[in-house]
Amino acid sequence: MKNRFQAKTVEFIAVGSELLTPYFLETNSLFISEKLQELGWQLSYKTVVSDQLEELKQVLRIAWKRSWLILVSGGLGPTDDDRTRQAVAEVLRVRLVFNRKILDNIRQRFESRGLKMTPSNRRQAYVIEGAEVLENPNGTAPGLWLQKRNRVMVLLPGPPSELKPMVENLVLPRLRKFGEVRVLRSVIRITGAGESMVEDLIKPVYRHLPSGLRLITLASPADVQIRLEMPVRSVRPEVEEKAFHRVKTRIVSLLGQLVYSAEGQPLEQVVGEQLRASGWTLACAESCSGGLLANRITSIPGSSDYFLEGVVTYSNRSKTLELGVPEELIADKGAVSEEVARAMAEGMRKKSGADFALSTTGIAGPGGGSQAKPVGLVYVALAFPGGSIVSRNLFRGSREQVKFQATQKALDMLRLKLLEMKKEACS
Ligand code: AMP
Ligand code: MG
Repeated sequence: MKNRFQAKTVEFIAVGSELLTPYFLETNSLFISEKLQELGWQLSYKTVVSDQLEELKQVLRIAWKRSWLILVSGGLGPTDDDRTRQAVAEVLRVRLVFNRKILDNIRQRFESRGLKMTPSNRRQAYVIEGAEVLENPNGTAPGLWLQKRNRVMVLLPGPPSELKPMVENLVLPRLRKFGEVRVLRSVIRITGAGESMVEDLIKPVYRHLPSGLRLITLASPADVQIRLEMPVRSVRPEVEEKAFHRVKTRIVSLLGQLVYSAEGQPLEQVVGEQLRASGWTLACAESCSGGLLANRITSIPGSSDYFLEGVVTYSNRSKTLELGVPEELIADKGAVSEEVARAMAEGMRKKSGADFALSTTGIAGPGGGSQAKPVGLVYVALAFPGGSIVSRNLFRGSREQVKFQATQKALDMLRLKLLEMKKEACS
């Protein structure tokens, strides 16, 4: 029976008309799919459906036909538009029965806060005949676990603050009994190359991928992730583990320094660890990235160990006053120029006393571009002990994306510089 269960489809249904409007984001499926991953399971379908009884029944009918496990969230509340219980009962042709214990629990919940239970809460005390009640210490609507003809349907409350603990504490332990599959997982993170270049470089590994290994490439501006996933199924897991690690090591070596993390860490964390290990300090002066660089650096706990300061010098005047960038240089070359980027980084390094200083200056758009200096033109500079470097970039995308790419480039310049200095120190 276990294997039959495993082979079959799992799906999730989010019930709620509000989830079909522009005002509410359906997030329960993200949590559910993440938790299922821990068991090595995957969703095949997720559906968002309105509170309309007929529409809800239609979706439940289809799910009951095709899936062995159906997780449903929402529509368990006390109001008239909460119809999940009724819809399930009608589709599965089972009765709704009154459960006094649930009603007492709800009444107590109200009384403990000095309130009186409303008559509409009575609805919540009806359960599907034969279903197991999943207690909800965080709200009034209990969950329901229904097992029937080799299928499982789980009804969960809609509010994430109620659904999450119920899934963690009551649902996952029950699901585990149906057979957990261990999954090997790795995320390799890359910057400095686009998706197609990465694809080209790692082509040799495609020829002998172990069976069952899935390789997923996710690309966003200035960041590519290669996700490797492989369920461990054989009786000799060490053989599968070895094969998995061989592929991972091969990809990392084919991509070389383009890989900033083979363990899924964000770039700001990787750079932070490099700085901490070397004992060096950092400061930054930002124009077009508007503080995003400092924000990313300081999002890492403990960054105060190596990050000294960050300033946003948005105007020309502030670049001169805060960083000592000569007025004539700005007048001559323009604020968005290699020379000003360099002067900003060097000025910041001097002013802060940090070992390294990063700077950004550019045109984030959507307006403000010209033929000579188009939108997306960003200069990023790094001042380090003994010199400075500047990179000229033409980023594409929205204002937000240009800002992100500028910070990614800055962090990556520092990462590569630190690697280079470490190598020199070792040789
Ligand atoms: P319900 O259990 O249908 O009464 O849902 C109550 C509230 O929970 C809704 O108004 C939403 O704010 C929230 N909610 C319900 N379903 C979801 C979902 N799938 N994702 C995120 N929030 C939800
Ligand atoms: Mg609802």
